[in-house]
Amino acid sequence: MAYDKNNIFAKILRGEIPCKKIYENDFVLSFHDINPQKKIHALVIPKGSYVNLDDFIQNAKEKEITEFFKAISHVAKLLEVSNAEGGYRALSNIGKNGGQEVPHLHFHIFGGEKVGKMVSN
Ligand code: AMP
Repeated sequence: MAYDKNNIFAKILRGEIPCKKIYENDFVLSFHDINPQKKIHALVIPKGSYVNLDDFIQNAKEKEITEFFKAISHVAKLLEVSNAEGGYRALSNIGKNGGQEVPHLHFHIFGGEKVGKMVSN
């Protein structure tokens, strides 16, 4: 699947649409989900143009991959939901069957309360 430069997260990265920023560095941006499903619901996205996790792992540089996964854990600490603080769920939807709506790789961070069953219909 080709990357769609006009997806909503690409627009956020270009500053065309605002976001409630949590954290940013050269490799990633994290912001609050616009439609939170739990008390805390954040998103972490790479700055590079990757459709999903498969695209990212196949095409990103090692540094981008390392920095991305480090950022997920860092954002969990910033939001005070790390393992030491109650825990959280990090989740990425991939493709049609995975329920992915925005075609730019993102991990959700859910926390601040019990997240519930792992999979629902
Ligand atoms: P997914 O179904 O995994 O692709 O999740 C996409 C997520 O992006 C959903 O949880 C949406 O609520 C969220 N979302 C869509 N547009 C925005 C936006 N402008 N700012 C923040 N979150 C958004």
